[in-house]
Amino acid sequence: MLAGRTPEGTATVAPRYAREVERDRRFEGPSDLHLHSTHSDGTESPALVMAAAHRHGVRTAALTDHDTTSGWAEAAEAATSLGMTFVPGMELSARHRWRSVHVLAYLIDPDDTGLRAMTDRIRSSRLDRAQIMADRISRDYDIAWDDIVAQTTDGATVGRPHIADALVARGIVADRGEAFASILHPSNEYYVALYAPDPVTAVELVVAAGGVPVIAHPAGRALLPDSVTSAMLDAGLAGFELRHRENLPEPTRELARLAAARDLVVTGSSDYHGLGKPNVPGENTTDDAMVQRLFALGRGSAPVFP
Ligand code: AMP
Ligand code: FE
Ligand code: FE
Ligand code: ZN
Repeated sequence: MLAGRTPEGTATVAPRYAREVERDRRFEGPSDLHLHSTHSDGTESPALVMAAAHRHGVRTAALTDHDTTSGWAEAAEAATSLGMTFVPGMELSARHRWRSVHVLAYLIDPDDTGLRAMTDRIRSSRLDRAQIMADRISRDYDIAWDDIVAQTTDGATVGRPHIADALVARGIVADRGEAFASILHPSNEYYVALYAPDPVTAVELVVAAGGVPVIAHPAGRALLPDSVTSAMLDAGLAGFELRHRENLPEPTRELARLAAARDLVVTGSSDYHGLGKPNVPGENTTDDAMVQRLFALGRGSAPVFP
């Protein structure tokens, strides 16, 4: 381990994350900049996630757990020992009205006060929300809060995927996909929205923490209103994750035109969740030139080279 964990389950900054670390060293592609571990809703530890990425040929990888940086130290250690470059990241929850917006935050300072206060608040609200959902579901199905706790590791960011895993363990549904399509669907009476900042606030927090904000899977459905996207760009949004299996062709083309016109960063990633989703490491990747731009823009932490 590079760093210890505080009781809140957050990694302390290791010397290797120091801002002074040289950031222009050579890295190798292919680069997959969006993967999840058991520190949020992935099913494998950070070390196993990096090993899976390596097995699939990935040579630069980011760990982007939801609303936490607690997996960085283990991932960095595993990645570099495999000869890979590690990119510190996070997927910050945001919300525009009823719609959830995910903001990838690269190279943030993990100890930034403002961002930490926000992620602490989101994680705590996620826990309350999961308990309320479990309570509602338990009226109709044989499932208890302990079943959900059993699906999480200590300090993990809790989400609907953990409730899904509990439903699978109880034999109520076959897999996460079935759970999301039925019991966990937002149209269902069991659903509770989680607290999350609006997308502009999310971008501002990431920028203030020295990080580079990129909207995750931005074209999975109709695009955000132009006014919201513009306000996010004004606040320092760097770009869009355009190569992602959930993006739809026409909205993706529209964002690609915007990205070209404004010279924005464009990324591609797997959004690997271990056994929790069919996504495979390296199924989408980010061009070397774009990785270089992220490295040049990030100020809160540095990539960790092998
Ligand atoms: P939450 O943030 O708790 O509302 O849960 C959303 C998370 O569930 C996302 O981060 C996705 O990774 C995951 N998710 C959404 N839909 C599915 C699905 N059909 N199968 C597996 N995981 C899903
Ligand atoms: Fe997820
Ligand atoms: Fe996401
Ligand atoms: Zn994700």
